[in-house]
Amino acid sequence: MLYTSTRNQKVGISAAEAITRGISEDGGLFVPVAIPRIDRGFLEALQPMDYIERAVSVLGLFLEGFSEEELRTYAKGAYGGGKFSGVSPAPVVRAGEHLNILELWHGPTCAFKDMALQILPYLLTGSAKKINNHNKIIILVATSGDTGKAALEGFCDVAGTGILVFYPVDGVSPMQKLQMTTQKGENVGVCAIRGNFDDAQSGVKAIFTDPAVKEKLRENGYVFSSANSINWGRLAPQIVYYFSAYVDMVSQGSIAMGEPINIVVPTGNFGNILAAYYARRMGLPVKKLVCASNANNVLTEFIETGHYDRNRKFYTTISPSMDILISSNLERLLYMLSEGDDGEIRRLYASLAETGTFRVSETVARQVREIFAAGCCDDDATKATIARLFREEGYLCDTHTAVAVKVYEDYRRKTGDTTPAVIASTASPYKFSASVLDALTGGSIRAQDEFAMVHELEEKTGIPAPQQLRSLSGKTPRFTDVCDKAQMCEKVYQMLGLK
Ligand SMILES: *Cc1c(COP(=O)(O)O)cnc(C)c1O
Repeated sequence: MLYTSTRNQKVGISAAEAITRGISEDGGLFVPVAIPRIDRGFLEALQPMDYIERAVSVLGLFLEGFSEEELRTYAKGAYGGGKFSGVSPAPVVRAGEHLNILELWHGPTCAFKDMALQILPYLLTGSAKKINNHNKIIILVATSGDTGKAALEGFCDVAGTGILVFYPVDGVSPMQKLQMTTQKGENVGVCAIRGNFDDAQSGVKAIFTDPAVKEKLRENGYVFSSANSINWGRLAPQIVYYFSAYVDMVSQGSIAMGEPINIVVPTGNFGNILAAYYARRMGLPVKKLVCASNANNVLTEFIETGHYDRNRKFYTTISPSMDILISSNLERLLYMLSEGDDGEIRRLYASLAETGTFRVSETVARQVREIFAAGCCDDDATKATIARLFREEGYLCDTHTAVAVKVYEDYRRKTGDTTPAVIASTASPYKFSASVLDALTGGSIRAQDEFAMVHELEEKTGIPAPQQLRSLSGKTPRFTDVCDKAQMCEKVYQMLGLK
């Protein structure tokens, strides 16, 4: 199976090459030229398997050139060996009559990013070997909080790699910041930038696509790659858990084999929900994909109208991993829905670069509306949802998951669509203790600092905080640098010891 670029159909490369390169030189994203189809027999075979074997089965459909044994080694390294707490890395938990919650945050950093970033280093170093790349791979990451730490954990001390993370200085939670600034490892670097996530992301993208930078790195035996969800090696592992959730729901008696479900995803960069879309295209019985946003509701408007407009106020919310106005992975969806019309994608993204907006054709807009539903909610509604879910069902969720729960409940009420639904839960509530505690107490928090809040939340709910977060208490930050967007490239050179 070959991969092409959303902006240049003449590109045709292997999975290994797509994963090593991360992003296409034309600025487009790599996509498989054809989407594999599964049947009922595939799902029946998946049902009794553990998560590792499910990953081998699903990834094998996309990653031609990787043997089953290789994929098994990768999946075992990523999801086995106690890296994830609990019986499955991605369990489906019931919370009340019609909420099935797919908990994706039992990994080392307590956010769903671990699901992909624990396996990406294996995919990336394996891919580099396959295409005879002997340069040291430098992972550049722009993060809104969770990706950075998950990538640092994934790549920490992996031979032949180095990792540099940029995060918006005021755009991450205290816990996220502490997770990143205390990262151990000899091959890691972390720097804050003055700006928001979109600034960090466009800064990284600019460094990636600058031929002069690329040349300088090559001269020194380095090559860039990406751990952001623009990398196919990041996206493919996310498809697995939607299959896994489906067959788990069958086992739990929530649905019959073959019965359609709805999938609800709290969305930022559109990677997680795009993985669900791939699963649907492959033949997983899915009716609607519900895209949930916070006050940064650029996707809500797009899904409802076909008009994408990033020229709007940027809100810093209590669900910071969704504070995004440019959702990179939407490009892959638009490419697929316009049947591989790379000229159309170039037109849309030139328009986005020039004016901050684009409008898709009515044909594409109609398909988007058919497949997706969308909704958004503000911080007050998010907090009210956390409080109510805990009060009524005893289920404690984080702020991002709460946005999805709220949007789903609105959707269900408005449309009367009672198709069984699964909600992607993307972070541990303890990653956002201040906001969660605020929601539960109506603002009367006793605790003064982050760890006192963790403790207060434990006391209030009787739900223990993950060990991964508790153990950060009292650690001293290693990385304290802050720079401007314009200095990012210089910072990269400095961290690599060049010039
Ligand atoms: C990254 C993240 C999201 C958004 O996921 P996308 O794939 O970027 O849409 C939502 N919630 C949490 C907790 C995240 O870390």
